[in-house]
Amino acid sequence: MEIQEKEVKLYKKEGKDLRCLACAHKCLISEGKTGICGVRQNIKNKLYLLVYGRIAARHIDPIEKKPLHHFLQNTSTFSIGTVGCNFKCNFCQNHDISQFQEFYGDKILGERLSPSQIVRQAVRSSCKSISYTYNEPTILIEFVKDTSRLARRKKLKNIMVTNGYLSLESFNFIKNYIDAMNIDLKSFTEEFYRERCKASLKPVLETIKRVYKKGIHLEITTLIIPGENDGIEELKNIAKFIASIDKNIPWHISRFFPHHKLMYRPMTSINILQKTQEIGKKYLNNVYIGNI
Ligand code: SF4
Repeated sequence: MEIQEKEVKLYKKEGKDLRCLACAHKCLISEGKTGICGVRQNIKNKLYLLVYGRIAARHIDPIEKKPLHHFLQNTSTFSIGTVGCNFKCNFCQNHDISQFQEFYGDKILGERLSPSQIVRQAVRSSCKSISYTYNEPTILIEFVKDTSRLARRKKLKNIMVTNGYLSLESFNFIKNYIDAMNIDLKSFTEEFYRERCKASLKPVLETIKRVYKKGIHLEITTLIIPGENDGIEELKNIAKFIASIDKNIPWHISRFFPHHKLMYRPMTSINILQKTQEIGKKYLNNVYIGNI
């Protein structure tokens, strides 16, 4: 039973439907339906996580690839992800698993691996941490917590690589189990989040502040997409926002390559990345160019 679809914790009944509380969308889900992420389903008036222990991607990565440059440097991290995502980014670099419904319909893909099997594999491969990454870990937050709890007992650290769209409920649910987060700050406009990701900026900013306040190690990543989020004012606003929290928070500026539905934008030039780094360095102490 440990790796079957599992009833989740973060939801409440609302009339005949269920309100999922895992992310800031807070989907109202009727009988038989799933929320936006496609992996939390109302089955006979209970909410189930369809991807509990269904691992669609699994690799041993250098931690710098997450990217985290100021946490457990020069170690390997056991990285796992499932299918599904609560965002619909038209430039997603992992759209084959994040937008799985477009490719596989309702079919949930992924090898069956329980939290204890994952922890065992991480220890055996000499990793110092487990990273919940590749797709959005918030949508499987109960599985992340079960795995993190076991990982802690084996002295492994837990890392979330996330779009930051956690609800307050979700943040409170996981905050004592996560040691580090890399949060994507994809843009500094509501319009970009609405048009490009079918989401909203405000909850992401709130998560960033909460994570810092809680003392979880925090690094931030922005994928620089030519013609989309590379305006000087917008980049300045991102850097200033991070600096307003702490100018030592590392900011990773990442190179875009045409992907998914955003094939008509060119890859980010080195020149733009360097200019962004110059802007960032006016406000922040640690600005890194990545994905080149
Ligand atoms: S995790 Fe988010 S997107 Fe998925 S069902 Fe819950 S509220 Fe909706």
